[in-house]
Amino acid sequence: MNTSRSEELYAIARELMPGGVNSPVRAFGSVGRKPLFIDHARGSRIYDVDGNEFIDYVCSWGPGILGHAHPEVIEAVVKASFDGLTFGAPTGKENRLAELVQACMPSMEMMRLVNSGTEATMSAIRAARGFTGRDKIIKFKGCYHGHSDGLLVQAGSAALTQSVPDSGGVPASYAEQTLVALFNDKDSVRELFDNNKDQIAAIIVEPVAANMGVVLPDVDFLPFLREITEENGSLLIFDEVITGFRLGTGGAQAYFGIKPDLTTLGKIVGGGMPMAVYGGRRDIMEQVAPLGKVYQAGTLSGNPIATSAGIKTIEILMRDPEIYERIEKNAARLAGAFRERARKLGIKLHVNQIGSLLSAFFTGEEVRDYQGALSSDTSAYADYFGYMLEHGIYVAPSQFEAMFVSGAHSDEDIEKTIRVLTA
Ligand SMILES: *Cc1c(COP(=O)(O)O)cnc(C)c1O
Repeated sequence: MNTSRSEELYAIARELMPGGVNSPVRAFGSVGRKPLFIDHARGSRIYDVDGNEFIDYVCSWGPGILGHAHPEVIEAVVKASFDGLTFGAPTGKENRLAELVQACMPSMEMMRLVNSGTEATMSAIRAARGFTGRDKIIKFKGCYHGHSDGLLVQAGSAALTQSVPDSGGVPASYAEQTLVALFNDKDSVRELFDNNKDQIAAIIVEPVAANMGVVLPDVDFLPFLREITEENGSLLIFDEVITGFRLGTGGAQAYFGIKPDLTTLGKIVGGGMPMAVYGGRRDIMEQVAPLGKVYQAGTLSGNPIATSAGIKTIEILMRDPEIYERIEKNAARLAGAFRERARKLGIKLHVNQIGSLLSAFFTGEEVRDYQGALSSDTSAYADYFGYMLEHGIYVAPSQFEAMFVSGAHSDEDIEKTIRVLTA
């Protein structure tokens, strides 16, 4: 595979941007390779600047549920562009998008449009704190909610008693407000509530964790979170930046039948443009300025081009619900192919799959939490990544990211992928 043009661009980029990239995982660091620079993408395919073609299972880390450059979405974006790129004033498109979100997720009684998932989770937590008058929040180890200070926190060595920043530049005093529990571990949550009576504003959780690889919630885990937050006067925030419009138009909350107090959406909701949403209970959202005392704003929030892409994407998903059946079936076929690969090569693999999300962990253990995910052999993952790339298949350059199946993946794409996996 010739990658000379990518290498030239990477050399220049490294002088201009930290690590040559604008988001760390793009650097391919954890698979020990140099990143490919992309020229364009269409449908299920992505093309690098050297003309190599790949079947893409990264899908921009989730937004691309319809594949790349869907003609109807592109048309909506181009049309909207001719009317002006931003006004800093309200538009009917924002109403339309909010109505669609509400039709899909009735828990979203009132919402705000923002520009990134990071902004959505940061703002949802501020609203939760403003509403409850409490400072502490609980997050789960291995769940990712964007890069705002209070969410870049890990359980310290004295797990569950002490929280430490997971990044330079995050004040320890800030990290102290974030308590870290273990995914699928109810006792770890109970313990935090016992030790922090009437201090916890909210639990924030990825209802299906998809940033430590895909990890499913145990059947009783989300109902338990709903119950314990209610008992303690705390709020439940579902971070559906990945699962929203991915597990169905109703997201994880419809899939599992749990109604969170607040929800964050991103990725698919912007149809490939920078847009995200947070919202939920009306009484909470009424705390947000200018109605209430919780400040949150944005020059480009509700941008007309981004809302146009989001509206069209959601309209297509609502119009063609069979997309979800097809992408789930294709993801299950890929999961089967991974298991066959493991059998053939005599390697240990554990596959987690739900809907069109899947992860093959290079471990013999069942993966139910971050600890399980960490048991993966990441060098085996790097070998698999290189093998797939050499055979024209672009998967996530990290063990701890999901594989996304899109509506643009054809039966031939899936069959080719299965052939490569099981060769
Ligand atoms: C991607 C992601 C975010 C952050 O969204 P950005 O748009 O990258 O800021 C937050 N939460 C979850 C669950 C995500 O997957």
